[in-house]
Amino acid sequence: MDRPDCDVVIAGAGPAGGALALALRASGLRLAVLETQFSPMAADPRPLALAYGTRLLLERLDLWRSLAPVTPILGIHVSQRGGFGRVMLDAAAARLPALGYVLDYARLAALTRERLEGDWCEYLPGASICRVDATADAVVLAVQGAGGGMRRIRARLLAVADGGTGAAGEAMRAIDYGQAAVTARVASVLPHEGVAYERFTPEGPLALLPDGERSALVWVTAPERARALSSGPEPEFLAGLQQAFGGRLGRFTAVERRGVFPLALKLARDPVERRTVRIGNAAQTLHPVAGQGLNLALRDAWELAEVLGRAPREALGEPGMLRRYATRRRLDRAGAIGFTHGLARIFSSDLAPLRCARGFALAALAASPPARDFLVRRMSFGARG
Ligand SMILES: Cc1cc2nc3c(=O)[nH]c(=O)nc-3n(C[C@H](O)[C@H](O)[C@H](O)COP(=O)(O)OP(=O)(O)OC[C@H]3O[C@@H](n4cnc5c(N)ncnc54)[C@H](O)[C@@H]3O)c2cc1C
Repeated sequence: MDRPDCDVVIAGAGPAGGALALALRASGLRLAVLETQFSPMAADPRPLALAYGTRLLLERLDLWRSLAPVTPILGIHVSQRGGFGRVMLDAAAARLPALGYVLDYARLAALTRERLEGDWCEYLPGASICRVDATADAVVLAVQGAGGGMRRIRARLLAVADGGTGAAGEAMRAIDYGQAAVTARVASVLPHEGVAYERFTPEGPLALLPDGERSALVWVTAPERARALSSGPEPEFLAGLQQAFGGRLGRFTAVERRGVFPLALKLARDPVERRTVRIGNAAQTLHPVAGQGLNLALRDAWELAEVLGRAPREALGEPGMLRRYATRRRLDRAGAIGFTHGLARIFSSDLAPLRCARGFALAALAASPPARDFLVRRMSFGARG
C-alpha cells in the first residue's frame, strides 16, 4: 500500500465527528477532519437533552467544563393527553446527580469545532467531498477546499459523520414519520424546578425541558401545523401549546427561537463497508422522542475510537477491524432504534385500545421501582449500562 496521507479521514465535524477526532487526539494517528460549513451552525435552534452517561463521555473529551452553564434534569414526568397513567422518574431515586442535562446544539457544535483548531489534526472547514473511491487497500477522496482548489486525500479509513447527508454517496433507508418537530424556548408562570415533561399527544410527543429560567420545547406534530406554528403569531403559538401541554407549568407567557425539523427514521444498510465506517446520524437518524440520537452518536464515536486505538496502524480500515466495531455497537444501536421507533409509533396513535394499553404501561411503570430503574439506566448509559 502506498503511504496514506492520513490514517483516518473524518467527514463531518458535528458532535459525532468532532467527538471521534477528540477521542483520538492522544492516539498518535494522523487525522483529517472535513466539514462542509465554515462556521458552526450558530442558528441551529435545537435543544439537546444529554443523558448522564453522555456527560461522562464529554468529561473524558474535556468538553464538559466549557459547556457550562447547562441545566440539570432532576426528574422526568411522563403522561399522555386524554388518557390515564403517568409516571415520574427521579434522579435521587436512581442514585444519579441528574437524569440528564439540557444545552443548545449550537453551543456544543461551536465548542467542538474550536477544539479542532490547532496542529494536532488537519481540520478543513468549508471542504466538500466530490468523489470517494474505496479499494481493498485505501480510501481516496477528491476534496474541494474552501478556496475552490481540488485535493486528493488517501487514508486507511473514512469515518462518515455527516449527519446522514450522503458524504460517501450512500442513500440511507428512510421511514418518513409524517411529522415535524417545532423547537422553541418558552417562559411560563410556574418554574420548572428541574423537571422535564414528556407528554404524548395524538399528533406526537411534546417535550418541555428545563433550560435555565425557561423551558426548551420539542413539539412533534403534523408538518403543516409545525410550519404554521413556527412562523405564526406568538399568541396563537402560546394558546396552542397551552392546549397541547395543559396547566402543569401554569400559563405560557413568551416564546423565542422557534425552529422546525422534518422527522424520519433513517438507517444505513450497514454501518461498515469497505474502508468506511458510519457513525452518529450517518448510521442512524432517530425520532427525537426520548432524546436518544446524540447520546447514541457520542457512544458510536467513543467506541470507534477505542477500537481504532487498540488496532495496529496497518489494520485500520481492514474488514476485521470494521466488523469488530460493528459487532460491538449492534446491541446499543438496535436498542435505541427500536425504543425510539416504538415510542414514536405507539404513543402517536389515538386508537382507544392503544390509549388504554399505554395508560396501563405507564401505571405499571409508576408502580414498579425496578422497572423505572432499568429504564433510567438504559436511557442514561445505553444498552451496556
Ligand atoms: C428537533 C431535534 C431535537 C433533538 N433532541 C435531541 C436530544 O434531546 N437528545 C439527543 O441525544 N439527540 C437529539 N436529537 C438528535 C441529535 O441532534 C443528532 O442525533 C445529532 O446531532 C447527531 O450528531 P451527528 O454529528 O451525527 O450529526 P449532525 O449533528 O447532523 O452533524 C453533521 C455534521 O456534518 C457536516 N456535514 C454534512 N455533510 C457533510 C459532508 N458531505 N462533508 C463534510 N461534512 C458534512 C454538517 O455540516 C454537520 O456539521 C435531536 C434532533 C432533532 C432534529
